[in-house]
Amino acid sequence: MNIQRLFESKKVVYSLEVFPPKKTTSIDTIYNTLYGLRGLKPDFISVTYGAGGSETQKNKTCEIASLIRSEYQIEPVSHLTCAGSTKEDIIEFLNRLKAEGVHNILALRGDITPENQVIDFEHASDLAAFIKKYDDSFNISGACYPEGHCDAANIDEDIENLKKKEAAGVGHFISQLFFDNDHFYEFMNKVEKVGIKVPIEAGIMPVINKAQIERTVSMCGASLPVKFSKMMNKYAQDPVALKDAGIAFATEQIIDLINNDVQGIHLYTMNNVETATRITNSIANIIASCNK
Ligand SMILES: Cc1cc2nc3c(=O)[nH]c(=O)nc-3n(C[C@H](O)[C@H](O)[C@H](O)COP(=O)(O)OP(=O)(O)OC[C@H]3O[C@@H](n4cnc5c(N)ncnc54)[C@H](O)[C@@H]3O)c2cc1C
Repeated sequence: MNIQRLFESKKVVYSLEVFPPKKTTSIDTIYNTLYGLRGLKPDFISVTYGAGGSETQKNKTCEIASLIRSEYQIEPVSHLTCAGSTKEDIIEFLNRLKAEGVHNILALRGDITPENQVIDFEHASDLAAFIKKYDDSFNISGACYPEGHCDAANIDEDIENLKKKEAAGVGHFISQLFFDNDHFYEFMNKVEKVGIKVPIEAGIMPVINKAQIERTVSMCGASLPVKFSKMMNKYAQDPVALKDAGIAFATEQIIDLINNDVQGIHLYTMNNVETATRITNSIANIIASCNK
């Protein structure tokens, strides 16, 4: 199923994201994770791709996406980054995906690091255009940033660049995580003003421990609203309470987004079945009601 078509048939699309385990020795854990997530009936599950990752890791992205489709009959989306990759590397991965029946790709640049420099593709839009030209049967999604990407001079420039991604064939965006819905609403207003038409899903990450928040914020630069910081500080010494509060915060964020007509929710599960299950169960009736 073409991911973009989901948005024609549903008012609110609900998707999950998983990542391949970092250590090849712990690969079995992902099978348990997928088994646990299958009952949540997401519209699709996306699988991350380590930018410039080892052959084994890249194989795992494809293998996990294939398993999601064949074993659980859930639509998979394979992430694919282009920093550090040649055209030949990308073609090889596309052929692997096609052989496994995976037709949906989240086309990304990946972070530029000393190990991952631009080779053949400067931006995700170049990758999207390349994939479309190579094989038009792939459906392409892309990333967007409600608070702006850190490389962009400002949010308006970043949104102008999103238009280039849309023009290159990206038919759906998934947003970077954020903790303040007002940033997302302001972003959506700007996106609408510049005429971007494709559906946009809001990326939500439940934060359930203090180390996670420090890591997450330093990686993606999401700003923290006062009520979020108060919650983190209040329960910092009580991991059980902090987990409950983090799940409640994410759930409240999602319900507010749905009340404000978001087109989709993409839950960054962090491979945590319990957290994903608690959140999904809390919002299942609400999403079902919207999709009646
Ligand atoms: C939903 C989501 C999933 C992700 N999954 C992964 C993953 O699996 N693996 C991974 O390694 N990383 C992942 N990332 C992180 C992502 O790779 C980084 O944020 C990366 O730095 C930018 O990728 P991009 O695809 O947004 O890049 P781009 O779209 O290329 O944007 C990067 C910068 O270039 C600018 N720009 C974009 N297009 C143009 C253009 N045509 N001309 C001029 N400037 C332009 C943008 O404004 C921005 O500042 C994910 C991010 C998100 C939001």
